[in-house]
Amino acid sequence: MSFRLQKSNPRTARFARALACLLLVCLVAPAQSLASGATAEAKPHGIAIPVLNYHSIGAEHGNPYVLSPDTFARQMDYLAAHHYTPLTLAQFASVMGHEQPSPPHPVLLTFDDGYASNAEVALPILQKHGYPATLYVSTGLISTPGYLTWPQIKQLSAAGWDVASHTVTHPHLPKLSKKEQREEILASRALIERNLAKPADTFAYPFGEYNRTTLRILRKAKFRYAFTTLDGWATSEQPRLQLHRIVVDSQKPFEEWVEQLTQRE
Ligand SMILES: [Zn+2]
Repeated sequence: MSFRLQKSNPRTARFARALACLLLVCLVAPAQSLASGATAEAKPHGIAIPVLNYHSIGAEHGNPYVLSPDTFARQMDYLAAHHYTPLTLAQFASVMGHEQPSPPHPVLLTFDDGYASNAEVALPILQKHGYPATLYVSTGLISTPGYLTWPQIKQLSAAGWDVASHTVTHPHLPKLSKKEQREEILASRALIERNLAKPADTFAYPFGEYNRTTLRILRKAKFRYAFTTLDGWATSEQPRLQLHRIVVDSQKPFEEWVEQLTQRE
């Protein structure tokens, strides 16, 4: 069989074209895959951080939102033994915004509502490890029975806790008018900022509930992040005002907490 190319022969012309195409694929394809590989590397990797959501720490009596001090201490010991790095809100924001590299095993510890036990029980356990936390306080509950007082909130703030808004009265936000939602969100933030002289530009939704109006208010007031109770890790792919959290349920076995902490959904 001869490979001499003859222009007049359609079969050999087809062969030549096929050969040319093959060469083109061989030469161009690696260049393209190199280029796309470079693009993939240049693009920052998605960040994913487990955000634990606690409420009260105390005698639980079967309440899923009240965690016994022993279990809480055991969870913090677990974080220490497995070299976790609990973050401040500022660190959380810089890692999520790709402004600083993530420390090993980052985690954000959040406490909702503002229970007195956060200062009386959780704080000493966290201080033993040197861990910061974030408090989302409903300002209307401050100094009512079972809840934090302003001196206690100032104590938490001085100990490195971030304090931000969880509304005034802990309402179901979607049931409120736009005006009422604004008041709940902005008045609580303003009060915290006035009392602590620090920005409180993140938010946690009471009952994890919000609607389009809520998001619009938060966006307009330039809140940086807001936390839902949608289950799973917070990631840089999620909308900033709809970040997921792991609600710690005192009725679940310890192993399940470990699973939620260590396995991204
Ligand atoms: Zn709450």
